[in-house]
Amino acid sequence: MSEANPFESLQEQIDDAASYVDAGEDVLNRLKHPERVLETNLSVEMDDGSVEVIKAFRSQFNGDRGPYKGGIRYHPGVTRDEVKALSGWMAYKCAVVDIPYGGGKGGIVIDPADFSESELERLTRSFATELRPFIGEDRDIPAPDVNTGRREMNWIKDTYETLENTTEPGVITGKSPSSGGSEGRVEATGRSTMLTAREAFDYLDKDLAGADVAVQGYGNAGWITAKLLHELGANVVAVSDSSGAIYREVGFNPVDVKNHKNETGSVVGYPEAEDEFSNEDLLTLDVDLLVPAALENAIDGDLAQDVSADVIAEAANGPLTPEADDVLAESDTYVFPDILANAGGVTVSYFEWVQNRQRFYWTEERVNEELERVITDAFDNLVETYEETGASNMRTAAYAVAIERVVDAYEEGGNWP
Ligand code: NAD
Repeated sequence: MSEANPFESLQEQIDDAASYVDAGEDVLNRLKHPERVLETNLSVEMDDGSVEVIKAFRSQFNGDRGPYKGGIRYHPGVTRDEVKALSGWMAYKCAVVDIPYGGGKGGIVIDPADFSESELERLTRSFATELRPFIGEDRDIPAPDVNTGRREMNWIKDTYETLENTTEPGVITGKSPSSGGSEGRVEATGRSTMLTAREAFDYLDKDLAGADVAVQGYGNAGWITAKLLHELGANVVAVSDSSGAIYREVGFNPVDVKNHKNETGSVVGYPEAEDEFSNEDLLTLDVDLLVPAALENAIDGDLAQDVSADVIAEAANGPLTPEADDVLAESDTYVFPDILANAGGVTVSYFEWVQNRQRFYWTEERVNEELERVITDAFDNLVETYEETGASNMRTAAYAVAIERVVDAYEEGGNWP
């Protein structure tokens, strides 16, 4: 895994797209930095009565197109620059799928495995208390990310509503359905990766049925992508998690692999696997489709030289460094970028927020139909821009689409001293 600074990667991606966007240097410079970053030290009482001080961040990148929007991650590797980068990717992701949000992201620097459930609840409520003045359904709307899910979102909603003495479920998304969550939210990220891959194969005149697929990371984004691709007839020949990768030439049943991971904690050791190898080996397999679905910087410039997949659909945020992009732009591999391929999560978060505000709830069928429309429209738009501009890769074309939309909103608003 590369040590590339993700915030510098984001700025480089914006620079790459700048020549395709009609905007001045000053306006573009504004779009390379977050508007504000909250850094806070949370005091949390542990079960043994001691108090720990734990660092947390929330970055609000850009609010030109609507309230800040983005997940909260619990991970020991969280840094200020990582959160800033992730908040920027959110701003451009919302713009590329044209939903009315800006970008935000938060993180707490912990390994949640070191904490009991009651410690995690106190920690989450402490963070929600710090966030209270900055969030709200028209201001900043957090959501789940790595190592957080419905449980944490329900706690944040409850803390906010209790302190504000109101009911405002739209302050956060990714909640359980009984706390105001949307049908289809848990599957949404993987569904958008599947839809992107399906459209990509169609665009490239390739058949997804029978295609060999490798998926790095078997959490929410990775395993759902594997399941939905399998339903379309693809062979999921390799999957991995932080313990390593497994391989089977005729493909796995993704649901069985998930059950094994639930029971044992890892995909490794799955009885039907024919081979086990490292994550790096998985990323260089000669497959039709590679889905990086773990963390950023999975493929750097060196590793990219050995990537043999025909298509990459990025379920994770920032899995390729800019150097990897440069190498792959010169190769036969097409990369369909994160800001489109994993945008299903934020899109269904948007549907959840709409439902919360209307107090009127949709069926899962309606959610999936609306999601399909958003992702396929965004895909068509991206391909059109790619062909019109002659951009070197799909990522640059996606940023060109997204930056143009943010710049338009900013310029239409005019300057406020
Ligand atoms: P998760 O915690 O559910 O799963 C992460 C998975 O990656 C786990 O299986 C873990 O074992 C594995 N992993 C960690 N390090 C690894 C490594 N070095 N090699 C291989 N596997 C490794 O997290 P998630 O929600 O699935 O998020 C994964 C990625 O998708 C992140 O980049 C996240 O930002 C992005 N994403 C998630 C959502 C969402 O709605 N969950 C939305 C958009 C983007």
